[in-house]
Amino acid sequence: MVSRFMQPMRIAIQWCYLVFIVYLGFRFYQFVTGLRAGGVPLLDERPNGVEGFLPIAALLGIRDWFATGSINPLHPASVVILLSALIVSLLLRRSFCSWICPVGTVEELLWKRGFSLFKRNIRVPQWLDSILRSPKYLLLAFFIYFIFIKMPIEQVQGFIASDYNKIADARLLDFFMNLSALPLIFILLLLLFSFPIRNPFCRFLCPYGALLGLFALFSPAKVTRDNNACVACGVCSQLCPVYIPVMAKTRVHSPECIGCWRCISHCRAEGALSMKLPGRKIAIPGIIFALLVLVIFCGGTVVGKMSGNWKSAIPIEDYVRLLK
Ligand code: SF4
Ligand code: SF4
Repeated sequence: MVSRFMQPMRIAIQWCYLVFIVYLGFRFYQFVTGLRAGGVPLLDERPNGVEGFLPIAALLGIRDWFATGSINPLHPASVVILLSALIVSLLLRRSFCSWICPVGTVEELLWKRGFSLFKRNIRVPQWLDSILRSPKYLLLAFFIYFIFIKMPIEQVQGFIASDYNKIADARLLDFFMNLSALPLIFILLLLLFSFPIRNPFCRFLCPYGALLGLFALFSPAKVTRDNNACVACGVCSQLCPVYIPVMAKTRVHSPECIGCWRCISHCRAEGALSMKLPGRKIAIPGIIFALLVLVIFCGGTVVGKMSGNWKSAIPIEDYVRLLK
């Protein structure tokens, strides 16, 4: 029997990460504004880890890593964070999306509020859902093609070393602090649509999630249904935030599964649903799954720090020159 504490535990972990990310963002804001105001901040004051918001820098860093055998020191944390998320996905489905990602946390909060308000979420027809899911894969294909095929390695390395890339984190901060009309309208619409529709950004637009989903296809852990124990109540299919028809499957292979355990946590028949390894004999206990997500993701950061691939090597003089 899956502990009824599984969902509260997942949500608590999500919110801890969200609070941590907001704190990290605020520290970075203080660093940048302090520097622009003419202060002389120490490079140590720059919170490393904000690179988690630079997925394109991470892809460029991985391409460079393949070519040189070492991680470029300008934004190494971006590579470490992406690699950690990919390893989590490879082993434990897209659980990064439902246990860690702050965007997923906010979207989940909004669609649950929408459900409380309207007593239902809008479910688009299957054919439209399939079409709407394609932009994230197209965006991912574009980035992969451009970064790994089209750009010569010299160009990749030139971009990584460029002034533009050096302060890409500060540029992103400026972008969000001074939103122009079009992005502001886009974000507001996305937030608005997140009330009636479950996870619109994650399901339809996020190329990061699309990449994790492709890695998750190879994950040994998969939601598995026991036909003999199942009482065909349909709760699992109704509660799935990405509308996987769990009741019609014996094993969920979909790249859309975000490993949230909602279906398993709310299953009405004991032993009917579990997260199982290939062979369908060994079920992963919820607490072990949760611990593995945390240990693997946080372990990536620890390995990055211990191997000297965490702290950015951008000199403080460059920050002073470029930000002023
Ligand atoms: S199949 Fe289950 S674990 Fe996967 S996304 Fe749906 S509810 Fe979550
Ligand atoms: S919630 Fe459990 S019992 Fe109900 S349909 Fe899904 S697997 Fe079967």
